[in-house]
Amino acid sequence: MSTYKMIRLGNPILRSKSKKVAKRKILTPTFQKFLDTLANTCIKNSGVGIAAPQVGVEKRVIVVHVDPKNPRYFNKKPFPLTIVINPKITKHSKKIKEDWEGDLSADLRGLVPRPMTCTVVGLNRKGEEVTYALEDDFHARVFQHEIDHLNGVLFLDKVKRKNTFSEYKQWKKFWKNKNLKDIIPTS
Ligand SMILES: [Zn+2]
Repeated sequence: MSTYKMIRLGNPILRSKSKKVAKRKILTPTFQKFLDTLANTCIKNSGVGIAAPQVGVEKRVIVVHVDPKNPRYFNKKPFPLTIVINPKITKHSKKIKEDWEGDLSADLRGLVPRPMTCTVVGLNRKGEEVTYALEDDFHARVFQHEIDHLNGVLFLDKVKRKNTFSEYKQWKKFWKNKNLKDIIPTS
């Protein structure tokens, strides 16, 4: 199955606001094929998620797929391969957690504060309305990260502790095995 080439950091497409998908377009063979290729691109790159603008398509579509065996984010609670069209966050917790994020478009990691839980609504690939109440903080994080992409927002923008910015290889060497409590001072 085919994949798309990833758009990389610096490409202005990553900073543009993606357009809503018209409901009548969803069931067309062209769009269905696009969804398959996008999902496949996420899998092939070992991503836990991908957003359409990351492959150069400025449409409001995200894919989330958390596999506990994913080497980039190991041992996370699984979330099945899920496509959401025109996703929207309708609710989120006040409680914030900082945790590591990376991106298939940039070889970087950093600590990003985000609401721990959220609810996402949108359409599935059949054009049906779907709601995801995300109680696992990592799942909620991935959805928020991918939805940010649709608005031209990158995780880099949200990193508060700039000293945690690392290239992926350096992250594995210096940060991966550190306890978060030792990096984030408790107030
Ligand atoms: Zn990303």
